[in-house]
Amino acid sequence: MDFSVSQDVRTMIDMVTEFVDKELIPMEPEFLARPFHELVPQLAQKRDLVKQMELWGPIYPQQYGGMGLPLMDSALLYEAFGRSPLGLYVFGCQAPDAGNAEILELYGTDRQKDAYLRPLIEGRIRSCFAMTEVELPGSNPVMMDTTAARDGDDYVINGHKWYTTAADGAAFAIVMAVTDTEASPYRRASMIIVPSDTPGFNLVRNIPVMGHAGTDWDSHGEILYQNCRVPCSNLLGTEGEGFVIAQQRLGPGRIHHCMRWIGICTRAFDLMCRRAVTRPIDPDQTLASKQIVQQWVAECAAEIHAARLMVLHAAWMIENQGVKAARKEISYIKYTVANVMAKVVDRALQVHGGLGMTDDTILAYYYRAERAARIYDGADEVHKAAVARRILRDVA
Ligand SMILES: Cc1cc2nc3c(=O)[nH]c(=O)nc-3n(C[C@H](O)[C@H](O)[C@H](O)COP(=O)(O)OP(=O)(O)OC[C@H]3O[C@@H](n4cnc5c(N)ncnc54)[C@H](O)[C@@H]3O)c2cc1C
Repeated sequence: MDFSVSQDVRTMIDMVTEFVDKELIPMEPEFLARPFHELVPQLAQKRDLVKQMELWGPIYPQQYGGMGLPLMDSALLYEAFGRSPLGLYVFGCQAPDAGNAEILELYGTDRQKDAYLRPLIEGRIRSCFAMTEVELPGSNPVMMDTTAARDGDDYVINGHKWYTTAADGAAFAIVMAVTDTEASPYRRASMIIVPSDTPGFNLVRNIPVMGHAGTDWDSHGEILYQNCRVPCSNLLGTEGEGFVIAQQRLGPGRIHHCMRWIGICTRAFDLMCRRAVTRPIDPDQTLASKQIVQQWVAECAAEIHAARLMVLHAAWMIENQGVKAARKEISYIKYTVANVMAKVVDRALQVHGGLGMTDDTILAYYYRAERAARIYDGADEVHKAAVARRILRDVA
């Protein structure tokens, strides 16, 4: 394994870090105080700057205007983006668009790529991904009620989804729906592109999550599909291939999620250390003199380092042996990094005392918004059960 970082990538990381520090972190008080849609024009200007710096869309193919970086290199950039909640959006590689672009590139027809992939990568439109349903367990998505029934040359979609991240203002959704109720569980569902202006695509509300309903990209929608009719040519891949495509979405995408979380860890850790060395705790000493704080600093530093190496190793596995061979490692990083992040953010908040609970630092936001990391893309327990089954099967 070679985790050395080339000079080119080092330069890009330095450019991103400087941009995040100078252009994005100063916008965070506004981000915390105002609805996201009010910030969109200002963020569009930042996106233009990123394009001028030729750092737009590191994970996207060059033919569509991205940088086409290999996984290991883009992973390192994601850590730098993750140091601000605005980073991924401004560098054009935010979820769920990044995952949708990945599967559109792999499975889309030429028409679908022209209509959806190109404008998505160029940042002209946004998208969302609708799998989870209100009434059934997202942890076991083969239990799915949403149907797409063929009617002539159309699919007619009916169902009730929620947690469709960034649905508010998205141009289209990639919707998982059952196309063949008789097929075996993993062959029943398909992915279908549904433009959000299709009659029957009804955004019920932006769900309040940890007290914040959000708007635009910064939201999670509940959507009723009521006789929502789209042409069969909007099918992504082939009929019954939905779960195969969904698996694809979770390989490299998980590396990027986890590296973003490492970026959050480093930001919280920096804040914690700075607070520790500047906060007086008695006339002669700062918080940094307290052993418990020193322990937290030492433990967090080692845990972040270990988590980063674990993610880079999983990325290395994917690059060298493919997603299938790296399945265990991809699960390890999901629950390990999500929990390291939760611990680091919690400790950083604790060191800030009452200040940590306010929105005067970014820590309370991270504490609220990133709790979900242990739930989406497979809850901790689901990944741990899958890993344990694989290990025990090999032993038996
Ligand atoms: C912020 C956020 C954003 C999201 N964005 C999207 C999105 O864009 N698109 C989308 O389709 N979905 C999205 N989701 C939904 C997410 O994928 C689901 O919440 C997740 O899959 C869990 O499904 P569920 O909520 O139905 O919980 P359930 O499946 O009901 O599970 C509840 C709990 O049961 C436990 N559990 C489940 N299975 C097992 C098991 N096998 N063994 C032991 N314990 C178990 C876990 O602790 C789990 O947290 C998002 C969720 C959040 C919170």
